[in-house]
Amino acid sequence: MIETIPIPGIEDFDKVYWENCSKNKLTIQHCGDCNEARFPPRHMCPICQSISHDWKEVSGDAVLWSFVIPRPPLLPVFDKQSPYVVGLVELVEYENIRIIGQIQTNSNIDSIKIGDTLTIDFKKINNEISLPYWVKK
Ligand SMILES: [Zn+2]
Repeated sequence: MIETIPIPGIEDFDKVYWENCSKNKLTIQHCGDCNEARFPPRHMCPICQSISHDWKEVSGDAVLWSFVIPRPPLLPVFDKQSPYVVGLVELVEYENIRIIGQIQTNSNIDSIKIGDTLTIDFKKINNEISLPYWVKK
């Protein structure tokens, strides 16, 4: 039985990403040679196969590209949080990067729609992991 939310495993190639999230900063990996942005982080550039890379901080502002409101039956840990929205967001700085995260709103959950503009925030899970989530503007 899963009693707590699954926590991402930290690998060497995405360690910087998680370290920055724990500082409430969203950073995107870029190729050190061709500057292609890529997400999720990985060892090698899919365009030029370079293993050189750097990290650039982004605003986290995004547009809701798609979403789902999970319905029962859910695992107990998620059932306690229901109803909630899981979104696929497109960062405003990069049309080719989409990230999955929870979407929060101060209004009715059923008012969320594709195309909503969002800002980022972070939820601390433990000393190593803070998960990005997005809030409807
Ligand atoms: Zn490259």
